[in-house]
Amino acid sequence: MCPVNFHEKRITGIGVSEGVRFGHAFLYAQPAAHISFPQQIEADHVEMELERLTSAKAQSLSELDLIIEKSKESLGDEKTVIIQGQRSFLNDPAFYGDIVNHVKKKYLSPEKAVQTVVDKLTAVFEKMNNAYLKERVHDVKDVAERLMSHLQQRSYPDLTQMTEPAILIADDLTPSVTVQLDRRYVLGFVTRYGGETTHTAILSRSLGIPAVVGAGLPIAQIQNGDNLIIDGELGLCIINPDPDTTEKYRAKLQEEQRFSERLSAFKQGPAHTADGQEVLLAVNMGMPEEMREGFVDEAHGIGLFRTEFLFMHTDHFPTEEEQFVAYKKVLEDWQGKPVVIRTLDIGGDKELSYWQLPIESNPFLGMRAIRLSLQEQGMFKTQLRAILRASAFGSAKIMFPMVTTIQELRQAKAITDEVKTGLRTENIPFDEKLEIGIMAEVPSVIQLADRFAKEVDFFSIGTNDLVQYTLAVDRMNEKVAHLYDYFHPAVLRSINSLIQAAHREGKWVGMCGKMAGDVMAAPLLLAMGLDEWSMDATSLAKQKYRLISLTRSESRLLLSKVLDMDTAEEVRLAVGNFHL
Ligand code: PEP
Ligand code: MG
Repeated sequence: MCPVNFHEKRITGIGVSEGVRFGHAFLYAQPAAHISFPQQIEADHVEMELERLTSAKAQSLSELDLIIEKSKESLGDEKTVIIQGQRSFLNDPAFYGDIVNHVKKKYLSPEKAVQTVVDKLTAVFEKMNNAYLKERVHDVKDVAERLMSHLQQRSYPDLTQMTEPAILIADDLTPSVTVQLDRRYVLGFVTRYGGETTHTAILSRSLGIPAVVGAGLPIAQIQNGDNLIIDGELGLCIINPDPDTTEKYRAKLQEEQRFSERLSAFKQGPAHTADGQEVLLAVNMGMPEEMREGFVDEAHGIGLFRTEFLFMHTDHFPTEEEQFVAYKKVLEDWQGKPVVIRTLDIGGDKELSYWQLPIESNPFLGMRAIRLSLQEQGMFKTQLRAILRASAFGSAKIMFPMVTTIQELRQAKAITDEVKTGLRTENIPFDEKLEIGIMAEVPSVIQLADRFAKEVDFFSIGTNDLVQYTLAVDRMNEKVAHLYDYFHPAVLRSINSLIQAAHREGKWVGMCGKMAGDVMAAPLLLAMGLDEWSMDATSLAKQKYRLISLTRSESRLLLSKVLDMDTAEEVRLAVGNFHL
């Protein structure tokens, strides 16, 4: 008998979140370009065309009802409100009523009528000054697209249509789509665009979802329902694997499971080196879903709380009260352990649906993070008030992102002082000793570390950005991903010199970029004297397991050799051969 030919195909991209998964493909794509349709209809076809429209409306409504039902369980109330808003357009005279009128009175085909009404409403919404209302245009377009897809009898791709576990295939997933992923159904994902430290990649790691990004055009070969294996470590997606591959990957999956059982012994409790030094390992957090039982015993605290996800998870700027409740909860959850709350780091690849930032040609070099907070001081003060009020309920620290100049730091501190004065006048308690630090993620902070160190309580090194700004390599661009490397000697020297400069001023240094969770980097960071290592939750046990095999003296020897090397390749070879 002839062996079955499975026509296995392999696609490679950048492995950003480890893990092997087997599953069927679920294609999440923007709707296909419109199929052409007649513009006008005959007068005696009006009834028939209206029936077609009514049936498309009914199908859209029942889909939206299903989504609302599902989103209540998995996405929370706020997301549900957005979908309910979309549903209401289908009963709105200004939207659906107008479409019907265009069919009845102007003899437009239903498709043309939908298009005409959407164009009209888009023009109206776009003239509005209110950013929130302006953004509703996306809801109008979304619901119109759904209606149109039913008129044309094609399916409308939608993440909430995932009703069983599958591997998601997409051109791109924005952080705001990623926060909505339902972990019960998304086994892993593969995207055409993206790099290692895009925020989508960061989210996939903290959610423990294996992911391959930046796989390029070849992802077009994947069909809905194809059998897939993804390997998030190697950045590989295998389409319709043949039996040998399947067997090999079953074995790899079992090995992963055995390793994770072995690691479970290292989950709880502090990290130690072989020569008995305790290392403070903290965790990065941004989404409430990441909190779980026993988490507090696994880490020293939160080294980076990314507040922007709180802002992305909703359809409006969170009020002071909403923010206060969220920060207070995190501080209470962590039972007095340190929690570094970073003020809003929006811009770059992180957008808010309700706040349209001007389009920029280099968003990572533009209006981002502290620059935006200093420009939008009302928003900044609201956030600072919420954090300060919450600081009475635990051990909070404030951290400013992407500081580049001393003036920015001084201005941000002055605004914080102003907010503190206001709270004192109102007799609202807060932690008077709360520490204030900055992210070290721009080369100017490295160069001026001695000066900055005099004016901050601590630094936290953001290697995700420090690499892109030091090496001039866009962290989002898969075409230059081979140049993006924290083992580049220029980056290593920067990190080392910052730590030494801060220590000379008696200030502590954390690291919250991806490097802190990399087991290969551990001996270097240990030798540099990094004070607090903050990482994705999934890296904690691995890093503890790694540290127990290291000594400071051997690590220092390695560091002195590495700091004298010329290339990232040499460094990788040296750290790769060191005890692994
Ligand atoms: C970093 O840049 O390393 C960092 C932790 O911040 P973010 O990834 O959110 O930009
Ligand atoms: Mg950063």
